[in-house]
Amino acid sequence: MRTSIATVCLSGGLVEKLHAIAEAGFDGVEIMDSDLVPAAESPEEIRALCARLGLTIDLFQPFRDFEGVDEVTLADNLRRARAKFEIMDRLGAKMILLCSNVATATIADHEVAAEQLGQLADLASEYGISIAYEALAWGRYVSDYRDAWKIVQLADRPNLGVCLDSFHVLSRGHDPREIEAIDAEKLFFLQLADAPHMQMDILSWSRHHRLFPGEGDFDLISFVSHMIRAGYRGPLSLEVFNDTFRQTDVRRTAKHALRSLRWLYDRACAANSWESKIDAPQPPRAIDFVELTGEDLGEIEQALHQLGFVFGGRHRSKPVRLWQAGEANVILNEQPRTQGTRLGSLGLLVDDAEAAKRRAVAIGAPAAFRRTYEGEYDLPGVLATEGIEVFWNARTAEESWRDEFEGGSTPGTESMRGVIDHINIAYPWQEFDEAVLFHTSTLALGAEPASELPGPRGLVRSQVMRTDDGVVRIAMNLAPPTAPLLPRHIAVRVDDAISVARRAKERGLPFLPIPDNYYDDLEARFGLDAELLAELQELDLFYDRDEQGSFLHFYTPVVDQVFLEVVQRIDGYDGYGAANAPVRLTAQRTFESETA
Ligand code: MG
Ligand code: MG
Repeated sequence: MRTSIATVCLSGGLVEKLHAIAEAGFDGVEIMDSDLVPAAESPEEIRALCARLGLTIDLFQPFRDFEGVDEVTLADNLRRARAKFEIMDRLGAKMILLCSNVATATIADHEVAAEQLGQLADLASEYGISIAYEALAWGRYVSDYRDAWKIVQLADRPNLGVCLDSFHVLSRGHDPREIEAIDAEKLFFLQLADAPHMQMDILSWSRHHRLFPGEGDFDLISFVSHMIRAGYRGPLSLEVFNDTFRQTDVRRTAKHALRSLRWLYDRACAANSWESKIDAPQPPRAIDFVELTGEDLGEIEQALHQLGFVFGGRHRSKPVRLWQAGEANVILNEQPRTQGTRLGSLGLLVDDAEAAKRRAVAIGAPAAFRRTYEGEYDLPGVLATEGIEVFWNARTAEESWRDEFEGGSTPGTESMRGVIDHINIAYPWQEFDEAVLFHTSTLALGAEPASELPGPRGLVRSQVMRTDDGVVRIAMNLAPPTAPLLPRHIAVRVDDAISVARRAKERGLPFLPIPDNYYDDLEARFGLDAELLAELQELDLFYDRDEQGSFLHFYTPVVDQVFLEVVQRIDGYDGYGAANAPVRLTAQRTFESETA
């Protein structure tokens, strides 16, 4: 399948965009009139540049407000069109996108629209140009692709067909199944955009909040499947108007954009049992390990010890130490000259680690390099978002990277036993959507609905990516743009958070102090019995409850951008204590300023 992208998706000038689009690996481009007009280069120069970069000009767009007008307006519209056809001729562009009339239509009659489109098509044919007619979701008389198709049939010109844009169809809730009723040779063009479900006017939703496929709530896999089953053989093209992507690094965004199309096409192939060149997703079976990197991890190490983690040994060839609590493996990797403490890598258990890596690389993730020595496990991995590396492992009980660690202690009765419940990663505003796609496309995680939590420095957007069974969960946080990046954390799930907390306190672990107001509110909300409430308050524990069950959790203070959380899920509780997040964020800020 050929791939294409509208220049409007990216930041920068036209020449910069074309270079980035070619470098990312797209086959073609939709040139936006509004990108050409301000460019210093002539249409001939842009044509030559595209040829040199190996990009086909798949579409010139848009032409607006043409049909359903009075005779005087029509004459002027034909004059406007001829001028643009002249420019397209110089560009070497063979197809123009015509949006349904928004502003100047006064005649609500398909016959009239068809007759006028026929005149436009005849004029275009003098230039060897085709017209792809698109029903805009907010078109005055034509806002449904089925009406656009009726008008195209009525006009009946060989160089007139329809353009389907997933946003315009799905934002209106129009049934995409009827795409398959359109003649294959009349499906001239396909534009793809995802979007989050939102309650707002469609025009603003479209102009500011479109996303690349896989990042929003639309079912684009079905949409593309209908197009291909209907016989569409043109490129899969992206048309994403988005405030963030218009500001971010053009080369990075172009690469990210192509990944979204590769993912989408692969998923459409899987849904239809068509052959795909990409390996099947490998849903993770567990979080195998979390690695923290920093210059001095002594404080984290002490906190792990106080919580009841057991020293699992020193790596035999690297400055790396392992701490374990049952199935929870935390690796501390001390590297000189690293800035702060960060989440260095994440290990996931899968059935086929090599296939997981091949898939990620085929979608467009850069391979990660890990130095290994004779006899050490070579874990396949890629560079994920936020500088984190992801490694896949298909280890068995007999064979494991754990064997590379020597001199560990044996767990005792005081030791904590648990699993990694979730990890929490903070993203800068420009990388959040890209990370959502990374998690779905290469880690085979699904997205829970996003939420917004009030913090002392602004609203924090939160989205959890997880496996269906919940064994792997990555909580993503988006800090307010003006605030420093939020710290990341690792949450370990245990069977008895109260006794873990009590032992950790005895061992001198500092807890994030929780204000008394919080416990007054807990009592009011849940009517907890006095004994439990007193115990929660004494130990600085958080509590939450939903229809399924309840949740106990507590946090260590932030050490150099990282902290630890201990959680206990009682019965079927499936959340993350979101209601407690504002209290936690405020407590962390207070703690920071008191200890700084
Ligand atoms: Mg469009
Ligand atoms: Mg958490």
